[in-house]
Amino acid sequence: MISFQPGQAVSHAYILSAASPEERETESIHLAAAMLCESEGARPCLQCRSCRKVLRGVHPDVVWVDPEVKEHRREIKVGQIRAILADAYIMPTEAARKVYILRSADTMNLNAQNAFLKLLEEPPKSASFLLAVSNPAQLLPTVRSRCELLRRNTEPERPPESALRDAEDYLSACSEKNLTPRLRWCRDHENDDKESVLAFLQAALVLLTDKLGGENILPQLSEAEALGQTRRMEQALEYLRANVSVKHLMGLLSVPSDHN
Ligand SMILES: [Zn+2]
Repeated sequence: MISFQPGQAVSHAYILSAASPEERETESIHLAAAMLCESEGARPCLQCRSCRKVLRGVHPDVVWVDPEVKEHRREIKVGQIRAILADAYIMPTEAARKVYILRSADTMNLNAQNAFLKLLEEPPKSASFLLAVSNPAQLLPTVRSRCELLRRNTEPERPPESALRDAEDYLSACSEKNLTPRLRWCRDHENDDKESVLAFLQAALVLLTDKLGGENILPQLSEAEALGQTRRMEQALEYLRANVSVKHLMGLLSVPSDHN
């Protein structure tokens, strides 16, 4: 369980990454208690009035945000983020801050993430955010970089090796002036199932994030190209979540954009 040392400052945004939904739930509650705990010692003390209210699920300054479910798709939408923004400027009821817990924050669509990014850029003083996710790679790098990442997985979350190899092949093909390797790659994958394309896109984002973070990989890509590809992969991920077919997606990925 995550806890704060005496005097340790509370950050305004955390990403809590854990594979199991139960663990995410338990850790989120524990972390929210730590963020609101009134103890002078290590937090959460689990004894004070505030901790007990959080644990009982009745603290008025803990706000849960759930994805909307429509036709089997779970998504946190931009309207929900705007509602948080409006609410975050209203002072907390009894604690020093309000804690917004976004359950399955990795289901935020691109618009929602962009709105959330604005919120993170100028966070209201009395609001803190806790983004519970199964896979932080589904959040925009710009969102990730503004949050403190707390992982509860013993294994680091890397996509499968096969997906990483696919991603490396695709990105290398894109860096070539000749379009043939890219077209061929996309054609070879147009009958892949949705799950493996999802893993491929996530793997590409992991590689690009590592590259932009200064790791010595994908030497053939410039920084501008890596950024361009990051946007492209995020958009493709968004299309895939919006049920665009794999065949159509591969068509889009086979065409160069401004940078790539
Ligand atoms: Zn406490």
